[in-house]
Amino acid sequence: MTILIVDDSEDQLLVLKAILNEKGYKNILLADSADKAFELIGLRDKKRKKDIDLILMDIMMPDVDGLEACLKIKKNEELKDIPIIMVTAKKEADHLQSAFQAGAVDYITKPINVTELLARVHSALRLKMEIDSRKERERELTEMAEQLDAANKKLTRMSYLDGLTDVPNRRYFEEVFAREWKNAIRENGFLSIIMFDIDCFKAYNDTYGHLIGDDCLKKIAKTLSSALKRPRDFLCRYGGEEFIAVLPDTDGKGAFEVANRFLKKTKNLKITHKTSPVSKNVTISIGVATIKPDRKKKSNFLITEVDKALYEAKQSGRNCIKIVCGS
Ligand code: GH3
Ligand code: MG
Ligand code: MG
Repeated sequence: MTILIVDDSEDQLLVLKAILNEKGYKNILLADSADKAFELIGLRDKKRKKDIDLILMDIMMPDVDGLEACLKIKKNEELKDIPIIMVTAKKEADHLQSAFQAGAVDYITKPINVTELLARVHSALRLKMEIDSRKERERELTEMAEQLDAANKKLTRMSYLDGLTDVPNRRYFEEVFAREWKNAIRENGFLSIIMFDIDCFKAYNDTYGHLIGDDCLKKIAKTLSSALKRPRDFLCRYGGEEFIAVLPDTDGKGAFEVANRFLKKTKNLKITHKTSPVSKNVTISIGVATIKPDRKKKSNFLITEVDKALYEAKQSGRNCIKIVCGS
């Protein structure tokens, strides 16, 4: 542990240093003025800061005296926990009171009594060790709390994301769709959903294997979710090779536009599908359903409707859009 002795008398500095060295305190720094002490503890330049565990501070010094120096150190957030023992020639009560008010933990009087000095240094250093270990524990606790918080946030995010495609999962859909349904009732606005399903995907898997099938799902999910423009729109994986896009505050015309965009973007991906009877590339079939929700209906109604529309699209030869419900 490092002790800094501040005294304008060189003799006093050397005496104190010798006593402490003799008792095994090897790291002693000396300052012959408050200014020099400020420099050593890093008040002048943080980069040149020395780690100090205890300061022995003479009270009577020219320029900046010990009390003023003590006050200045105690005002500094990083340095305020360094214990300061005042060294004073006078023992008057008001003098000592000022020392404690300035933030000193203890005092010793001149001429120095070695036993007294060592006892006070020992207990001040023990105090510093306790403060350091408490601060370290606090730091560890804060770090753990931050890690836990980050892990919790990640877990929450993960529990709403589909592991394969990274778009929101069905659980997210259930929660947010129910919320949007209520919103639309409150605002007397439109709510549209688009359900699409990859055409002949079983054949695709059988032809190219499941891993390539997974890649195809990822590409389509990524491309079509980024085709949504409005902040409240989202695409989720509803199950298998079936996805739903939720389009709040969107009427049938708007939803049909988005569905068309989906069809085109999928076509433009040009993912070869040589065993598809529909096209030489992967295609999707799309159902669109739009409603102005009211309290008489449940949100599931719109899902049943969109499912019907998708079924119709499949029946009509796939790679097309069907709309139900209307606005
Ligand atoms: P349709 O045009 O009528 O939709 O025919 P389909 O073959 O796409 O439909 P079907 O329901 O018969 O088959 C769906 C296929 O989707 C079967 C299943 O292996 C595949 N599938 C579902 N989830 C995944 C997945 O996560 N990864 C892969 N690679 N394939 C999947
Ligand atoms: Mg399919
Ligand atoms: Mg399917």
